[in-house]
Amino acid sequence: MPTPSTPAERRVALVTGASRGIGRAVALRLARDGRRVILASRSQGPLGEVRSLIEETGGSAATCVVDVGDAPALQRAVEGVIDAEGRLDIVVNNAGITKDGLTLRMSDADFDEVLRTNLTSAFVVSRAAARAMMKHRFGRIVNIGSTSGVVGNAGQANYAAAKAGLIGLTKSLARELGGKGVTANVIAPGFIETDMTAGLPDEVKARVMEAMALKRLGTPDDIAAAVAYVSSDEAGYLTGQTICVDGGLTMC
Ligand code: NDP
Repeated sequence: MPTPSTPAERRVALVTGASRGIGRAVALRLARDGRRVILASRSQGPLGEVRSLIEETGGSAATCVVDVGDAPALQRAVEGVIDAEGRLDIVVNNAGITKDGLTLRMSDADFDEVLRTNLTSAFVVSRAAARAMMKHRFGRIVNIGSTSGVVGNAGQANYAAAKAGLIGLTKSLARELGGKGVTANVIAPGFIETDMTAGLPDEVKARVMEAMALKRLGTPDDIAAAVAYVSSDEAGYLTGQTICVDGGLTMC
């Protein structure tokens, strides 16, 4: 653990989708590493539980209720965090949804909602955070992508498009902000055991595991460990990258 006097101890991180799954694990990990963590998602109850867990173990957290699909509200929320905290060093754009279906049957509404929630939100948060990060000449933007955005996935045209879009957004942010000490990277999980994958039939899970080098589904903590590294001070020479944390499923 860093000592309270190290600069990393004072870093403020915003994690969207922190109420459960990967976002929750990321929030707990960043708090354990000494960051003050702002927990964002749509309902106060689950966020309050994560906050209590963090505080019980000596960490520092605050909650921020926002629907990331509502761009103006999200913009105001991030600005509110910066006003209240005086800084915002790390953003983890993790909130995401799926609305799967084959393209021929996919509605415009399901396409748009997935793009808005998974991609537009990351743009809005990053734009709002970038000014504060540039001012402090330090920033870590971490976008949670997916291997679906790298190699595509039948039944996920909307989701894969959003996650592929995150890669382009991230590379552009990396090029625009690199000179100011701000990095931007994508962590692209494969199959992780969360609510999002809980409904997958066992035979699908078995098939996916067989295709993986490591022969097991990932855990939220596997992703949190990667986020902890790319958002750390020591990862200052890593930017514009997409890191697939997928048990060797794609090796891309
Ligand atoms: P979960 O479904 O377990 O959790 C999703 C999180 O996003 C919840 O905290 C939810 O909060 C939040 N969220 C969803 N919609 C909104 C919204 N409109 N506004 C605010 N918060 C929202 O998902 P995972 O933890 O599995 O996924 C997290 C990220 O990882 C996503 O971006 C996902 O695409 C990505 N990913 C996951 C994989 C997996 O196998 N699980 C694989 C590849 C990528 P609440 O509902 O409380 O508002």
